[in-house]
Amino acid sequence: MKTIYFDNNATTPIAPEVLDEMLPYLRELYGNPSSMHTFGGQLHRKIEEARSRVAGLLGAEPEEIIFTSCGTESDNTALMSAVESVPHKKHIITSRVEHPAVLNFCKYLARKGYRVTYLPVSKQGQLNGDELVKVLDEDTAVVSLMYANNESGVVFPVAELGEMLKERGILFHTDAVQAVGKIPIDLKKLPVDMLSLSGHKLHAPKGVGALYVRKGARFHPYIIGGHQEHGRRAGTENVASIIALGKACELAGDKLSKEVIYLKGLRDKLENALLKSCPDARINGDVNSRLPNTTNISFEYVEGEAILLRLNEFGICASSGSACTSGSLEPSHVLRAMGVPATLIHGSIRFSLSRYNTEAEVDKVIEIMPPVIKELRQLSPFGRERIKK
Ligand code: PLP
Repeated sequence: MKTIYFDNNATTPIAPEVLDEMLPYLRELYGNPSSMHTFGGQLHRKIEEARSRVAGLLGAEPEEIIFTSCGTESDNTALMSAVESVPHKKHIITSRVEHPAVLNFCKYLARKGYRVTYLPVSKQGQLNGDELVKVLDEDTAVVSLMYANNESGVVFPVAELGEMLKERGILFHTDAVQAVGKIPIDLKKLPVDMLSLSGHKLHAPKGVGALYVRKGARFHPYIIGGHQEHGRRAGTENVASIIALGKACELAGDKLSKEVIYLKGLRDKLENALLKSCPDARINGDVNSRLPNTTNISFEYVEGEAILLRLNEFGICASSGSACTSGSLEPSHVLRAMGVPATLIHGSIRFSLSRYNTEAEVDKVIEIMPPVIKELRQLSPFGRERIKK
């Protein structure tokens, strides 16, 4: 059975071009980029090429890019650096729908005595700039708001939020792990001070990420040790993966404009067909400001986990709005913050596509989903009532 992989916001397959580019650095070219011999020098040049490629995708300067081990490290580093840069300020602002890489680091900082404000979102998962202005104060050290949400795909108005913060001289970090490579980002125009990204969300391997730090912004390293990354992130470089990330960013840049249209076409076809063929289904998220590859749909009177298990039998991979923690189903904090009722959260499914998905795969899911939903509803008393009506 062929797998239909519609879970690309969780992780993406490595692009073949990316794998080809990185493999020699796992096989023959295994040196340490800090070594003085030619072997080391060669690697050093490749790392700098990768830095330029990452910067190129974002409209940044190469020296504004720091390689890290993942999106989580980039987020943690940005927040830690921000609070250390202005030690007299003790207020952090973020949103209720951030990834745990930001939320749990904020909780950690709260335990250290920081005051954290979690901004609410609308029913569509959208953030209102007025809410941000209301909570800013003299004590605000940093604002960290995601570019695009991993569950709903909702894209925040980062440019507008950044302008508000720039006017007030407040540091602004954005977690762009889900946005980079999926929608255009131009840091020449975008007023953000720090931006996080992660390799495995854009067809590079797991275990590599990057943090953009605007030139002139104060920076404090989080991982302390050797002189790597100009003293901004210690630890011998993950050479092959850094090279892979560079190649993935170059590819993403080359393909972006066509891919946005392609993915939106597939996503919309899938979404429209499912809404039509499955009664009591609804979209979670702001349809006017969403990643082109993501749809989050709630099917009432069914458990998302049950849908996933049935889809898995057909080789279809997606994800649900509730996570299994210690044997019970924990409803998604993102959908809860959007005010989605618990029954709809438990029946939510996220499909997230990539350039490797095809229309034939979308057609297959469109064919399989309606009978799966109907069959599962027959198993629930509410579902049976509903089908009868
Ligand atoms: N931020 C967002 C929005 C994410 O979706 C993820 C991963 O799912 C992360 C951060 C963490 O990235 P990583 O898995 O590279 O640590």
